[in-house]
Amino acid sequence: MAIMDKIVIANRGEIALRILRACQAMGIKTVAVHSTVDRNLKHVALADESVCIGPPPGTDSYLNIPAIIAATEVTDAVAVHPGYGFLAENADFAERVEESGFIFIGPKPETIRLMGDKVSAIDAMKKAGVPCVPGSGGPLGEDPDENLAIAKKIGYPVIIKAAAGGGGRGMRVVHTEAHLANALQMTKQEAKAAFGDDTVYMEKYLENPRHIEIQVMADQHGNAIHLGERDCSTQRRHQKVIEEAPAPGITQKQREKIGKVCVEACKRIGYRGAGTFEFLYDDGNFYFIEMNTRIQVEHPVTERITGVDLIREQILVAAGQKLGYKQDDIQIRGHAIECRINAEDPETFMPSPGTIDGFHTPGGPGIRVDSHIYDGYRVPPNYDSMIAKVIAHGQDRASAIARMRVALDEMVLNGIKTNIPLHQWLLSDPGFLEGGFNIHYLEKRLEQRKGK
Ligand code: ADP
Repeated sequence: MAIMDKIVIANRGEIALRILRACQAMGIKTVAVHSTVDRNLKHVALADESVCIGPPPGTDSYLNIPAIIAATEVTDAVAVHPGYGFLAENADFAERVEESGFIFIGPKPETIRLMGDKVSAIDAMKKAGVPCVPGSGGPLGEDPDENLAIAKKIGYPVIIKAAAGGGGRGMRVVHTEAHLANALQMTKQEAKAAFGDDTVYMEKYLENPRHIEIQVMADQHGNAIHLGERDCSTQRRHQKVIEEAPAPGITQKQREKIGKVCVEACKRIGYRGAGTFEFLYDDGNFYFIEMNTRIQVEHPVTERITGVDLIREQILVAAGQKLGYKQDDIQIRGHAIECRINAEDPETFMPSPGTIDGFHTPGGPGIRVDSHIYDGYRVPPNYDSMIAKVIAHGQDRASAIARMRVALDEMVLNGIKTNIPLHQWLLSDPGFLEGGFNIHYLEKRLEQRKGK
């Protein structure tokens, strides 16, 4: 008998297909819930059952909690996998799933809530011994003099961040005392409008950090492990474009040290399932910025270098099983890199929805393509523009990049514009090839390219 009978996949696109594949390999039945515009998604066709949960806008379908709970009830499913985005980090949703008698494939609702508020997350992490960015150590009050004193103590530049912020929004960098009060007010107003919560806090602004994150996995029996790090410094507007693992230049000793800190923190907060500790890495030091309480887009690079099926492991621990791996079982083999393929103009970054007219996926040793698209599929304008992930693995970084280059050259994706040319350009950029650059690298190179 399968470990679970039937799972509702509360998502769309490539991650919904990825979850479906894991379920099928485990003998678990699947229910696809989808919006009206998503009837033709690949995972909808492949699922055992499907339920239409609303019109195209996410707020009416993939964020429609009562509709998803109802679909779980009518199909007699036992669990819900939220994927990433949409309701994946919504504590109220996790709570509703559990209160309705189903398993939420993710952490406990209270853990999601704790980590969803960045002020409480930082506080919990500090107490658990995780190194954090020097900062206000709590929400900022109304007293201007006190705030000036906090900024002076931290040292300029500082960054004002919304406690409820996400998706790279609700942040403002302040370089001098004269700009502090105004920046604070503006960030508060923005945070109120975007997240319904005007709580803000202050951190030291690290000028040239790398983004390095640690993947963890924990069961419900007090066991936790880490699966090494990923370098996600290739960013545009705080959005990741390319991710890789391991991070160039990070030693086994550093990995073990920061990994152990994360594992201890998981145990301390009673973490359950897959999670990611995001750090800024500067001058040899890690500084925690936030924890993502879900599977991430870039999880395949970790799967490639460790051999662990993270979605399968999520399902097993949600069903109450003990972790199938001990820390010593996790060995890093080679190097993996992921390119996020978006339906967008490679020069202007404007979304480019439309119908795919010609599609061939690349292959060969070390190549994995996670994508829901097919020839004739129409990319709707309603959702995130990511349509595929190409993952290349090699014995070292150079061979992973070489394989990625061949794969992207071989890939045919016609009918819409994609950012494949951007990736091809980056994959032969000398600075990129060197590795270990900071989070501003891509934007700096784009500026230089524009100037030419
Ligand atoms: P979000 O939840 O919106 O993704 P994060 O706290 O994860 O916000 O920060 C997103 C990005 O913003 C980071 O990857 C980094 O590029 C930048 N950033 C955040 N905090 C700082 C900081 N203290 N110093 C420098 N850059 C920062």
